Amino acid sequence: MFSFELVPLPFAIFDEYGGLRKSNKAQLLHKLVAWSEENNDYEVLIVDGKEMLYHAVWSKVGTVRNLLQNFTRAVEKECKVIAVFDSYVEESTKATADKLGHKSLQLLAVHALTGCGTVSYFFGKGKASAVSALLKYEVGLDVLGCQKANIHDILNAGHKFISILYKERLTHTSMNHHRHSIFVSTKNTPTIKRLPPTDLALNEHIKRAHLQTMLWKAADKDEPPVVNITEFGWDVIEGVPTPRTGASQCAPPELMKFVACECSGQSACARKNCSCFSSGVSCTGFCKRMAKDSCNNPHTQAGSR
Ligand SMILES: [Zn+2]
Ligand SMILES: [Zn+2]
Repeated sequence: MFSFELVPLPFAIFDEYGGLRKSNKAQLLHKLVAWSEENNDYEVLIVDGKEMLYHAVWSKVGTVRNLLQNFTRAVEKECKVIAVFDSYVEESTKATADKLGHKSLQLLAVHALTGCGTVSYFFGKGKASAVSALLKYEVGLDVLGCQKANIHDILNAGHKFISILYKERLTHTSMNHHRHSIFVSTKNTPTIKRLPPTDLALNEHIKRAHLQTMLWKAADKDEPPVVNITEFGWDVIEGVPTPRTGASQCAPPELMKFVACECSGQSACARKNCSCFSSGVSCTGFCKRMAKDSCNNPHTQAGSR
């Protein structure tokens, strides 16, 4: 049952108008600032030397020696201070990133997966919990944005990370399973948008995040990578890129049979063999006759047309 969205769109990641769900972008910045402030008990401070020189006030009088003295005074701390004057040539950027630790490389993927301009936000899941999850677990998101990575590895990594976001348990990564267990274990029945999307909808989401990360990672190249966006969660409809929902049928066929009838002919829905009529409910837009004038269900005629 929970392998179906149960609504026309995956509302965890799409809004009520069919657009990608948006959120407050500044959250990530606040989280990163809080993260750096929390950890002020450090042994070494690495200072961006060029940035400091840029912001320093250069006095009108004095020599280079005075400037140097002011600079030294400004960076002086209890701990060891290393001032780095680096340049962004290809090799040294990578070397700097390596020094920051392997997890910093996954920040781009985390940012894309949890929502940015071209990828949905998850309802009720902010950037703060995403960064916490990155810090706490080995999530293996390095494959995202990697052009040569296998799509199964990408989807696996994405599923693993999103399942942590919804429920901190790594035993299974099936969203359909999560949807069921969250639904039955939450005291007050959660609204549908609070449940994670189905596996199929999440797959399309992860592909969009992978594409975005790939483009970001190529920001220092002359040209963006040549990709076909229809392989990455997008359809192009009349020239307009449209996010693929991954939701085909909104509910199990058995249930659709109950909530919608297939009646046809002149006296459609007039008799008890109409499933809507026999259940004592009105026909709806999901029925073959779409509850229009040609539907003869008396419950429909009673006012819900
Ligand atoms: Zn009917
Ligand atoms: Zn009907």
